[in-house]
Amino acid sequence: MTETAEFEIKKIERSRISEVDFNNIPFGKVYADHMFVADFENGEWKNMRIEPYGDLSISPANATLHYGQSVFEGLKAYKNKAGEILIFRPEANAKRMIVSAERMCIPPISEEFFMSALTALLKVDSAWVPGQENTSLYIRPVVFADDPYVGIRPSETYKFLIFTAPVGAYYSEPVNVKIETKYTRAVAGGVGYAKTAGNYAASLYPALQAQKEGYHQLIWTDGQTHEFVEEAGTMNLLFLINDTLVTAPTGDSILNGITRDSVLTLAKDWGMKVEEKRLSVKELEAALKAGEVKEAFGAGTAATIAKIHKIGYNGVDYVLPEEKPLSDKLFDTLDKIKLGEIEDTHGWVYKV
Ligand SMILES: *Cc1c(COP(=O)(O)O)cnc(C)c1O
Repeated sequence: MTETAEFEIKKIERSRISEVDFNNIPFGKVYADHMFVADFENGEWKNMRIEPYGDLSISPANATLHYGQSVFEGLKAYKNKAGEILIFRPEANAKRMIVSAERMCIPPISEEFFMSALTALLKVDSAWVPGQENTSLYIRPVVFADDPYVGIRPSETYKFLIFTAPVGAYYSEPVNVKIETKYTRAVAGGVGYAKTAGNYAASLYPALQAQKEGYHQLIWTDGQTHEFVEEAGTMNLLFLINDTLVTAPTGDSILNGITRDSVLTLAKDWGMKVEEKRLSVKELEAALKAGEVKEAFGAGTAATIAKIHKIGYNGVDYVLPEEKPLSDKLFDTLDKIKLGEIEDTHGWVYKV
């Protein structure tokens, strides 16, 4: 299933690309001309096609609208100086979507199917991958239950879509985060490790409360005791404590981020001390008080590395050092790998 020829391709009559100012792209509002669509019916994926990006028609009883049986992914494509299109670790996203789908009783999209659909779509919309510095084409695969049925059971029909959006330079100031010890994002035995809709809906209210207190994001702690640091909800978290890079091990309540894995791999390549361990809030607080937390950052596809300015806990804000050389080096190295500007020793870059 690697030939793109087997997908029916219906092209848009008139491209919208000339209406887009690629030097000033608003995030998540502009979508490329086409989308990939497939239907799951009678136990198999069928009707695989590329068609103009546009609205879908959904039954009011659609199972996803009511019960959130869906999974998604997020990845990015880049244009290098030679005009080639490179995608960062798409096979890892394909594998993770299979893991998420299993938890949500969604029929899996094989890695081969995922890659061929992605490749075909990117070929059709290659002009939409921006080439300006720090820009990319954000890619959103999603699979959702499509039964027009309000009973609760796994759906019998699904849709698999991939659509894309050019995104502009993502520069953000270092963020302020608060250690959350009341609300819970994910619990042992739950769905925190799956990229599924409900995890994000559940996080909105606590995040809004923190924003009222002046924080950008939360540091989630474990659901049982609220004593251990987990992740940020769209990013994994890493702390440089003295000279050791520390992050929580992934498990059923933490999403297995591809950026996190890339960061850990690079840090090990550089000979750094890396510890995947349960980091208690007490230990983090003591390290913050002692000035041992040299840097802290979120790792995720959207920002790659989101530097943390201050961490709030129990009404006290701990400001981290202004110089963040490790965060900068990681961001810069990942950026260059994604653009093929330095050697890709781990086979992370996929050329469309
Ligand atoms: C997507 C996501 C991340 C980051 O994963 P990447 O593969 O690095 O983009 C981290 N946490 C959650 C909850 C996520 O949904």
